[in-house]
Amino acid sequence: MTATAGRSCGIPHPSGGLDVTAATAARLDHAEAINRRIHAFLHLDRDGALAAAGRLERQPADARGSLFGLPVAVKDNIAVRGLPSTSGSAVLRNYRAPYDATVVERLRRAGAVILGTTNLDEFAMGSATTTGFRGPTRNPVAPDRIVGGSSGGPAAAVAAGAVPAALGTDTGGSVRLPAAHTGIFGIRPTYGRVSRFGITAYASSFDQVGCLASDLHELAQVLSVVSGADPRDATSIDREVPDFTAAAARPALPRAVVACSDEDIGILDAPSRTAFFRALRRFEEAGTTIRRFRLPEAVTTISAYYVLACAEASSNLARFDGMRYGSRVAGDGTLAAAFRESRTAGFGDEVRLRILLGTTVLSQGYRDAIYAAATAARKAIRDRLSGALEPGELLLLPIARTSPRRLSDPIEAGEDYEGDRFTVLAALAGFPALAVPAGERNGLPFGVELMALPWQETTLLSAAAAFSALPGATAQRSTSPSRGAAGAP
Ligand code: GLN
Repeated sequence: MTATAGRSCGIPHPSGGLDVTAATAARLDHAEAINRRIHAFLHLDRDGALAAAGRLERQPADARGSLFGLPVAVKDNIAVRGLPSTSGSAVLRNYRAPYDATVVERLRRAGAVILGTTNLDEFAMGSATTTGFRGPTRNPVAPDRIVGGSSGGPAAAVAAGAVPAALGTDTGGSVRLPAAHTGIFGIRPTYGRVSRFGITAYASSFDQVGCLASDLHELAQVLSVVSGADPRDATSIDREVPDFTAAAARPALPRAVVACSDEDIGILDAPSRTAFFRALRRFEEAGTTIRRFRLPEAVTTISAYYVLACAEASSNLARFDGMRYGSRVAGDGTLAAAFRESRTAGFGDEVRLRILLGTTVLSQGYRDAIYAAATAARKAIRDRLSGALEPGELLLLPIARTSPRRLSDPIEAGEDYEGDRFTVLAALAGFPALAVPAGERNGLPFGVELMALPWQETTLLSAAAAFSALPGATAQRSTSPSRGAAGAP
């Protein structure tokens, strides 16, 4: 599959133009078919997508945007006007977004066609896409396995060929983990690069919108479109947006690769370790300077992330009380009962656990001991990572410790939290990080993470392009049999 094969959903039109409507219809049919098997989409917007395709066809050629006709899927915690926006939670089961998130507005303006909204863990809290109230998403590569999370729906939609690209959110790894488990690219941009307006907040100082795609080219195109300051999000930063598409088309190895140490890799299972070293060797054999770096300690890293993320979640989710937002359960008629019953009925176990954890660490007596300590640890982690990298250099990390587990496998309490050991680093630091397919282990996709200093997404994209072209690059898995069938030329 060439880098441009999935670029447009347009199929040749008899008149020589592009029949965006036919291509969109074919994608929708394919999305419906895969959805029966893997449950990637929560809502397919056939009417809206076809109407958008019709409008695009009537557009004069010189008014076409860079994503003209590109079908995309959007994680269901990102507002798409008129569509259900549930964040995978029963508390929002009846909510429809009355407006577009800024990223959605920008996609539409560039000519993308939004096919629908995709599944996630409830309020994006999780690593498997199993806790949403409408049920789990299956991994298209191995449907008896988890897809990773929390942006499992977007990743599955891309990997199954329903869409070439999708938007997810990444608070502590939610774009990168499912990308790695499905053999596609997924980027978490620098904190502040992309507007969060219209995103249902989980942990605001971590949340970033990210992009997933099977080709780097489309990933970069979508990133270019959604990036840039937004007056409606005060945490978005007014900085020039580089040409990410050009960077992805210009393979360049980084000045040095700073790989995490053997001790850090020790928590991986043996096949994952071998796959990681294979990736490192590919850089080495291409002549890249390699340094090794001991990551900040796992326990501190995971604890800092979960303390802060839960604290922020507990205040962000306070609004879902059946009065300001969310489905209301009346109880005995008193206000207190309605509040209690609405929240009890509305939230799943994991979300409730995190709200309780977050409320505890913010309460008097624990605030200094726990919350303030986590804030200090976060700063120390950011400083260490900054100290490890010079501009133009990249950190190389694993993403997952093991292959994706079977949906039927039981898991221990806290197991998924420990599995976030690598991905939460970029989130704590606010640095950009890119999941890059790096072959397989146990016959399942394996991905590595490249992390850069803030605002260096172009270095990430050029390095990923170079890495993907290196000898030894195991052919990318052909997980998207549908690409052609779904209307790509
Ligand atoms: N697995 C992490 C968590 O549960 C990250 C989730 C995310 O990035 N949204 O918080």
